[in-house]
Amino acid sequence: MAKILIVEDESKIARFVELELKYEGYDVEIAADGRTGLEKALHSDIDLVLLDIMLPGISGIEVCRRIRLESAVPIIMLTAKDDVTDKVVGLDMGADDYMTKPFAIEELLARIRVALNRHSKIVQPKVDVLQMGELKLNLTSHSAFYGDEELTLTKKEYELLEYLIRNKNIAITREQLLNNVWDYEYLGDTNVVDVYIRYLRQKIDDKYGIRLINTVRGVGYIIKDEK
Ligand code: CA
Repeated sequence: MAKILIVEDESKIARFVELELKYEGYDVEIAADGRTGLEKALHSDIDLVLLDIMLPGISGIEVCRRIRLESAVPIIMLTAKDDVTDKVVGLDMGADDYMTKPFAIEELLARIRVALNRHSKIVQPKVDVLQMGELKLNLTSHSAFYGDEELTLTKKEYELLEYLIRNKNIAITREQLLNNVWDYEYLGDTNVVDVYIRYLRQKIDDKYGIRLINTVRGVGYIIKDEK
């Protein structure tokens, strides 16, 4: 059964809604302020958040905004005020629905069912992965792995590696790398490419004892599929 987080500082209301939800078979967690609510929404297995707007500390609007930076969990905003501004701001911040207190519990239950149902139909985007042998690039998070181990690459090292892998089995000139990875117009100095190639070799080839990045004499570099 779905787990619902109630973020509400008025304990009477929180308790009342909790009992009703439990009666319907939902698991319930309660947070009495915005900070706790945010933490629970992001770090436990919550399926839906009932979020009061008027909260001590961080407001419900701000909690909603911050949840949305990291999570697509359905959010239904609750407020005592029948305030159109709050409603619009809440929905702008990514809330799924909105209820004005006092509300009929049946209506709240209906909206919870709708939000949970709609959410379950959203296809989560697949993580985009580029793989070559043991080497895996997560194109969404810009992270790289060798086997199960995450490589500690700088942004530029990652971009260089991604570019080489996207163009695998093709010899890439230093000028090309400079133009595509660094966005510089080629002005004759390609040392920076060699320096970064050296960093990547230290972090991948040397570390794992493989020959990933090959020098093509007089041309540049190439990453080849292992044969
Ligand atoms: Ca409140």
